Amino acid sequence: MSKKTDRREPPPDPQQLPGLVDAHTHLAACGGRSAETVAAILDHAAAVGVEQVVTVADDMVDARWAIAAAEWDDRCYAAVALHPMHAGDLTAQTQAELEEMARHERVVAVGETGLDYYWPSRSPDCASPQVQAEAFSWHIDLAKRVGKPLMIHNREADRALLDILAAEGSPETVIMHCFSGDAAIARECVERGYVLSFSGTVTFGNAQTLQEAALLVPDGQILVETDAPFLTPHPYRGRRNQSYCLPYTARFLAELRGVSDGEMAAILGGNARRVYGISS
Ligand SMILES: [Zn+2]
Ligand SMILES: [Zn+2]
Repeated sequence: MSKKTDRREPPPDPQQLPGLVDAHTHLAACGGRSAETVAAILDHAAAVGVEQVVTVADDMVDARWAIAAAEWDDRCYAAVALHPMHAGDLTAQTQAELEEMARHERVVAVGETGLDYYWPSRSPDCASPQVQAEAFSWHIDLAKRVGKPLMIHNREADRALLDILAAEGSPETVIMHCFSGDAAIARECVERGYVLSFSGTVTFGNAQTLQEAALLVPDGQILVETDAPFLTPHPYRGRRNQSYCLPYTARFLAELRGVSDGEMAAILGGNARRVYGISS
């Protein structure tokens, strides 16, 4: 007799894996919009070894949430930018506000910014590729001005994105969040010194190409993230994701790369702290 699993039920806690940092999550979208709800999400994460998180903004409202969360809880840091889908919101006023936010001491990256070629033809609310490219260039320059890492969102835009980065000149630290390219793109990013962050998508059954890419990233250039509430790792794909689910993906990377779970966690956590300039 088979019983369908309830997709609304949150994934169970993974076995504890200390030392991890969730390199990219969205706390407000996970329900963290007060000091209490943020603390509850981070307590849950800490209980399984996810000691710190970087919460990432999609738009101006979200950017204010992200900074508030980072001020409420010292396990949380923020990244601010306009997501490529919202690139049309970039005006003189939002530029000024984002620049001020990016200089905030709890903000550790400019992001997520980049290119999304998937949504423009599917959603009338999504900025056009041209508008996205202009906003992307502005964010690249912002990251350089404030001296913080640039956190990249890329969906189906590998070539255009790498070309813009090359033309503008990359900031010192570039993080490819939710890396989704193949081995050739991964190799190019690695050669440029970029950091590749892997989400639950690398654990999916059909992710062989992505797994090949994850195998060739040197130890010093790899991160792990949840991108919660989306992209819940296998075998809980489709359910609600949160930072406490990060050990599933970290363990998958350990097995893929043939190292122990503890070693992998030390590499991933150490890289996140170095790249974002945060202490444990
Ligand atoms: Zn993204
Ligand atoms: Zn995201």
